[in-house]
Amino acid sequence: MNSDGLPLLAVTIPLAGVAGLFVGSFLNVVVYRTPLGLSVAAPRSFCPTCQRQLRWWENVPVVSWALLRGRCRTCRQPISMRYPLVELATGGIFALVTWGWRGTIVSAAYCALAAGMVAVGLIEYGGQRAPLSVAAVAVGLGQAIILVGAGWQHHWRIVTGSLIGTVAALFIYGVLRSRDPACTDPRGHGRSALLLAGCWVGGLGLVPAAVGAGTWIVVFFLCTVGTWSATRQTSGAGAPGASPERTSHPVLSTPLVSAVAMAMVASLIAGG
Ligand SMILES: [Zn+2]
Repeated sequence: MNSDGLPLLAVTIPLAGVAGLFVGSFLNVVVYRTPLGLSVAAPRSFCPTCQRQLRWWENVPVVSWALLRGRCRTCRQPISMRYPLVELATGGIFALVTWGWRGTIVSAAYCALAAGMVAVGLIEYGGQRAPLSVAAVAVGLGQAIILVGAGWQHHWRIVTGSLIGTVAALFIYGVLRSRDPACTDPRGHGRSALLLAGCWVGGLGLVPAAVGAGTWIVVFFLCTVGTWSATRQTSGAGAPGASPERTSHPVLSTPLVSAVAMAMVASLIAGG
């Protein structure tokens, strides 16, 4: 990095961090509503206990939760600490991604992909299925920003790489899906995280993509073995609830999502 970039980064990194807090607040809504098939646009955020719609000042990321001391203003029921933590984590991720991409326009694309990954990961770790639309919106947004931003600056390696990565991931996603007759859920699966990773590693270039793929294989193998042995210990012989329909989702989805997240981190480090 040349020294000319430093003043710009001193502005863009904090800005990205603050934007990440607000996006994290939106991701809390996405994670809560999309697995239930509810709209993320309406109604406005409400207290899950007393159903009262929140005023704008009760919805400021982290600050509102701290001022209200983690309780609803009317019913006094505790508001999960998970909400401000997701906001802070998203803010931190946005700042790191922006730093990794030196504050260029492409940073915004990678922030969109990272936000999609946070949402898919939280939904799948929560034992629900992330709708395909969550990853699709993030990839669509990220790819559009790359096309316009990187194309404008003639960074064709990023443009073509991300397009190839997205198309390759779409192909793998389609193959996996067609080979999984047990998956009858039309809403999607943790597999949609692969679409985010395809666009992500493709834009970084060949070597980071290879590092990402290697990381994916290692983490997926370790997580699958870990999850499989944990499931075997807890379910035991003849235990109820051990039918293939019930176990196939958590056994496959969690390692897949974990491996994709680690592959994205590793490839970004390799590319930076
Ligand atoms: Zn309430």
